[in-house]
Formats: sequence, structure tokens, C-alpha cells
Amino acid sequence: MAQADIQTVTLPSGKSIQVHTGLFINNEFVPGNGPLIETINPVNEEVICKVHSADEKNVDAAVDAANNAFNNVWKKVPAAQRGRYINILADLMERDKDELATLETLDNGKSFVIARDIDITDSIGCFRYFAGWADKIHGDTIETTYDKMCYTRHEPIGVVGAITPWNYTVMMPTWKLAPALAAGNTIVLKTSEITPLAMLKVAELIVEAGFPPGVVNIVTGYGQTAGAHLSNHPRVHKMAFTGSTVTGRRVMDASSKSNLKKVQLELGGKSAQIVMKDADLQNAAVQSCGGIFNNHGQSCNAGSRILVHEDVYEKFLELFIAETKKIKVGDPFDLEVSQGPQISQLQFDKILNYIDIGKKEGANLVLGGGRYGDKGYFVEPTIFTGCNNNMRIMREEIFGPVVAIATFKTVDEAIEIANDSDYGLAGGVYTTNLETAIIVSNSLEAGTIWVNCFDVFDQSTPFGGYKQSGFGKELGLDSLKEYSHIKSVKIQLTSRA
Ligand code: NAD
Repeated sequence: MAQADIQTVTLPSGKSIQVHTGLFINNEFVPGNGPLIETINPVNEEVICKVHSADEKNVDAAVDAANNAFNNVWKKVPAAQRGRYINILADLMERDKDELATLETLDNGKSFVIARDIDITDSIGCFRYFAGWADKIHGDTIETTYDKMCYTRHEPIGVVGAITPWNYTVMMPTWKLAPALAAGNTIVLKTSEITPLAMLKVAELIVEAGFPPGVVNIVTGYGQTAGAHLSNHPRVHKMAFTGSTVTGRRVMDASSKSNLKKVQLELGGKSAQIVMKDADLQNAAVQSCGGIFNNHGQSCNAGSRILVHEDVYEKFLELFIAETKKIKVGDPFDLEVSQGPQISQLQFDKILNYIDIGKKEGANLVLGGGRYGDKGYFVEPTIFTGCNNNMRIMREEIFGPVVAIATFKTVDEAIEIANDSDYGLAGGVYTTNLETAIIVSNSLEAGTIWVNCFDVFDQSTPFGGYKQSGFGKELGLDSLKEYSHIKSVKIQLTSRA
């Protein structure tokens, strides 16, 4: 197959980086049959470079490569060796951390320091965590009656199709690749058409790490063509999807209409952070500010609703505004900057529209509310107060640096407001009372609850939603099970007369 192009990308520093722009199938970069994708720098709205896009035939080729590798190669690789490949990949990512973070920042607009010290660092940690599990996957022996016994086996599912969004361009793919590979599956990953670059660099490292061809395949491409075909594919055995709830429904539909493949969905959210009257207010202000404004509000778990006990509301608001004013917005390659541009014109327009809606709904705009600068997709950190659950800004995912603040009188009222949501990805409670912390945590209908902190992740703890935030767990031991079939073998011990 013909090799696809390598392009030279010039960085703001004047240095340049070489990037492969083809589809990664069978350890080679090959041209796609679809239209070229222009990837845009959200800082200046200019084209960084063009990458290939997959059509249905290209997706078929990637799925064939993954099936072939699964049946003829990867199944026979000892589990410890699977772990070794994954660990080598983690080492190579560590070596090339700055380059990976640079590509992520260029393509996505997030702060370089955050891309390097959080996104890429955590992705490396995630690969290492699951590498350690590869040779520790086992079933049980279950004694049933005196003359029968059963053993269980955790077997790989086969070919995993993964589809990821643009907000964590390396971390979201890693959360799927690492457990899928450790559990013995092969994979076809479709990255977001908006941010393809950093994972194309990871693809180079996959070859260098020595993974056999076809074990990992990465297709860049559009959702409605490549993504839909992958979800619908009869020779894909599981879909792992992260993205919007609307698209998640389509992936599930496609699975049900094709081969009823196993599906795991990580979708949107509208997480509530509850500030009790006994909270350490300074800590609550710092943590909840990060809880919404980290990653420019473009996190599925963003704590975009803050519910504050009315007795401490004035003091909390003062501290929260002071904290928000410390956020430095600007060029993400500036090491002091924590908030770069939003990802795209589409998101930028959507966020400004929600700010308009908030004003029209009668919420009080107390900070921000507009564009930052006159070029690029920058939005000011924005605070609305006086909100209630009838407002769209309290119910809908804005996916930008906009927070809606409301007050409550009792713990029960806070729990009721928090749970009155279609989503259930995460939540938070700030309190110095252990009993309140546990009661509220246990009452919130969400997959992750943070107490006196927010947006804290660790590869060893499971993450995933309730309600329309999806189902299935990423990270931790629970996620390995998502990538395994569990077989029961039942044996009659007295079959001889
Ligand atoms: P999106 O749903 O538009 O796109 C996600 C991916 O799906 C992209 O790769 C896209 O190409 C693909 N896609 C689009 N249409 C498709 C189709 N018909 N069939 C198959 N694939 C298709 O979401 P986005 O705008 O990239 O990301 C933002 C959304 O992702 C937000 O709602 C956010 O909450 C969610 N998200 C959730 C988590 C989580 O862990 N729960 C993490 C990050 C982002």
C-alpha cells in the first residue's frame, strides 16, 4: 500500500515538527480515500496541516488488520509480553513527552504545561498501570456440588472499536487502548477529526515499541462516515465510545442493528458541586473553580453547577470570584497561561449563545460573558448567579468556561437539585463534617463523587456515568473487565460409572 505523506508543521517558537498524516493500519501510514481534513489552530484560526480521512473501505481494511492480528498473532503472545509492549510504549511516550504535549497544545489549544504535566503524564501512568495487569488476569475456581466444579476464564473480546473526542486528545484514547491491549484485544481507534495530530505521533511510537502489525490501528476520519461504519461493523466485537450523548445513542443504535456488539459509553455531564455551610470556604473556592474552569470547561465531568448554602453564599462568592480572576487566559504556549482558546468556531459560538440564553433567562452575569481578545476562540471565564433548575444554563451541557451558581437551604434540597438532571457523571461536596460528606456522596446519582476536591483522577480508580452520562467504567480493575468475556467451564467429576 502507498505510504501517506509526512508534513512539516511549524510551531509558534519557529521550530518545526514532522507529522505523519495518513491512516495507521498494520503499522504503516497509508492514504485515506476520504477528503483531506484541515486541522485548525484554535489560537489563530489558521490551518496547521491536512490529514487523511478514512472512508468505509479504509475502515474495513483496519478492521481486517485487527481481526487478522487478533486471531493469528496477538492471541498467542504471552500475557507478560503484552505488558512489556505496553510498558515500552509508556517509556517512549515519556521520552517524547514534550513533543506529544506540543502537538496536543497546537491542535487543541490547551495550556502546554497542562498538556505535558497532566494529559500526557497521566496517559503514561495509565499505560503503566494496565501493563502491570496484563499477566495478572485470571478467573476463579468455584466448587458447586460435591461431584461438579466450575472454573472461569477471562478471555479477550476480539476487535475493539474505539471512538474518541477532541477534549483530551491522548488521554481518552489511552483509557481505551491500555485496558483493551492488556486484556488481549486488538483495536481500531477513530480519533476526533478536530484533533488528530498527537495520536498520529503515538502511532509512530507503537511501531517503535515493537507491537506486531494490526494490533493497534488508528484511523483519522469523520464521525458520520468512519465512526458510523466502525460502530456498525459486523467484525468489531465491542465499541468503546467517549463523546456527546447524541452520538452515543447513534453508536448504540448501530451496535443493535449490526451484531449486538458490547457497548461502553462515556458521555456528557452537568455535574453539581455542593458547598455546605460548614465547608472550608477557601478550599471550596479553589477546588470548585478548578472543577469548572479546568480545560476551559471542556470536560465531561466539569462541575458546571455550584450549589451553595445560603448562609455562606456571600463569602463563598467573593472567594470564588477572586479565584476565577486569577485564571490567565492567552497563548497556551505561555507557561503562565492556564486557559487557552476553546476548540472550534462551533464551540465558541455555542458557548456565547448559552451566555446569551443565561442573560435572557434572568441569571445575573457577575463576571466575564464575552470573547477574550479579537482573534482565536477565546472566551472569558464566566460566572452566573441567581440560577435555578428551570434555566437551560443549569440543565444543558455548555462545555465551556461558564458556571451557574444557585443557593439552597437544606441538605435535602441540595441533593434534590443536584439529582434533578438527565446526567449523572460526577458530583462534589465541600464540608468539614464526615457524616454530611458520606450522606451526600451516597445520595448523589452520579458515578464519581469528590469530597473537598474536584476533577482528581487516578488510573487505579473507576470512572463512568449514571443516567444519560453513559455506562461502563474506564480506569481501574473494573475497566479491564469491560474488555473481557467471562467464560464458565462446568465439569462433572463423576462421569465414569
Ligand atoms: P461528539 O459526540 O461530537 O464526537 C465524539 C466522536 O464521535 C468524534 O470522534 C466524532 O467524529 C465521532 N462521531 C460523530 N458522529 C458519529 C456517528 N454518527 N457515529 C460514530 N461516531 C461519530 O463529541 P465531541 O464534540 O467530540 O466531544 C464533546 C462531548 O464528549 C461532550 O458532550 C463531552 O461531555 C463528551 N465527553 C465525555 C467524556 C466522558 O468520559 N464521559 C470525556 C470527554 C468528552
